[in-house]
Amino acid sequence: MLQTISGFDRIGEENAFAVLARATELADQGRDIINLGIGQPDFKTPEHIVEAAIKALRDGHHGYTPATGIAPLREAVSADLLKRHGVETDPGNVLIVPGGKVTMFMAILMFGEPGTEILYPDPGFPIYRSMIEFTGAQPVPVPIREENDFAFSAEETLSLISEKTRLLILNSPANPTGGVTPRSEIEKLVSGLEQHPNVAVMSDEIYSQMTYDGMEHVSLLKFESLRDRLILLDGWSKTYAMTGWRMGFSVWPDALIDKARKLAVNAWSCVNAPAQFAGLAALTGPQTAVRDMVREFDARRQVIVEGLNAIDGVSCRTPLGAFYAYPNIKNTGWKAKPLASALLEDAGVAIIGGPDFGVLGEGYVRLSYANSTANIKVALGRIHSFLAQGTP
Ligand code: PLP
Repeated sequence: MLQTISGFDRIGEENAFAVLARATELADQGRDIINLGIGQPDFKTPEHIVEAAIKALRDGHHGYTPATGIAPLREAVSADLLKRHGVETDPGNVLIVPGGKVTMFMAILMFGEPGTEILYPDPGFPIYRSMIEFTGAQPVPVPIREENDFAFSAEETLSLISEKTRLLILNSPANPTGGVTPRSEIEKLVSGLEQHPNVAVMSDEIYSQMTYDGMEHVSLLKFESLRDRLILLDGWSKTYAMTGWRMGFSVWPDALIDKARKLAVNAWSCVNAPAQFAGLAALTGPQTAVRDMVREFDARRQVIVEGLNAIDGVSCRTPLGAFYAYPNIKNTGWKAKPLASALLEDAGVAIIGGPDFGVLGEGYVRLSYANSTANIKVALGRIHSFLAQGTP
């Protein structure tokens, strides 16, 4: 019998992909399904970005690139970070990776092993916990609470740090809640972290350009005291509607960049060359498509929050970032996962149950509003009618 490492007994998955598969299967059978499950923009990649990839192919960019990414792209990432966050970074600390997810994979592999602890947001992106468990490290959930508008609490986060903590994972704007942590709380956290100089921080800022109601996104990059231990995760997937291109970037501190480069060389050599040219066009070209997309998400956000709050037993805080609504469904009488499953099978609406994002997810569901306003309205009507029929 083949014997693989024990980590496979612990590794998890992203249920959003299983829901997508089931939704597609039902649609293929002729059912009318509205998908509010998957977390990807429903827009196409802007034309000038697509053209840049086509041109790169025509120009003969068919070979390997440096493992860290083509130099102009790493320079463009540094310029983008300067423009958006007002922070200088050395392009030598930038790594181009195949998707945002890869940065968390690498960071968790670097720090996780039995006997160590890694702190991560709960509810949060499911891959954090999955990868932490895979390495044998102890996952320590940092509760993300509704009463705190789904921002993380500096005090609670700091209280969970122990002698064994090696890595702290942060995410704002957040998946699945849409929560954005305010500057004051981030400053409090950074100041407390000065007492824990051996704890590395990975800040997942993949939704950094998606905030609403004037809410500012405060990058952890801004804090000098963290620069020698901060890993920044960002990328093109959400901002430029490029989920299928698999393009992400990270910024690593001096002590880690070469280790990250070695992991890249061992795993994928370099990111797809034409995709890197597309990423370059995205950063250096017009940003109007990004602004238009965020404006459209904002309008849909208002429709979905209002619609959810009009349903008996459902209450939804107004999310300040990303493109997710995360309503509390405790008063409907349903548990979250059976509700998500029944809505898909019986009402033709795909959503994700909160428990798929962590042990604290019961009583909540996630709806992605990366779908048209018309579809969102129909979906809300279906949820309303379905819940009016009562509990199972
Ligand atoms: N981080 C968060 C919080 C996400 O929600 C996602 C995708 O849903 C990712 C990272 C991964 O992004 P990518 O598709 O670029 O790997």
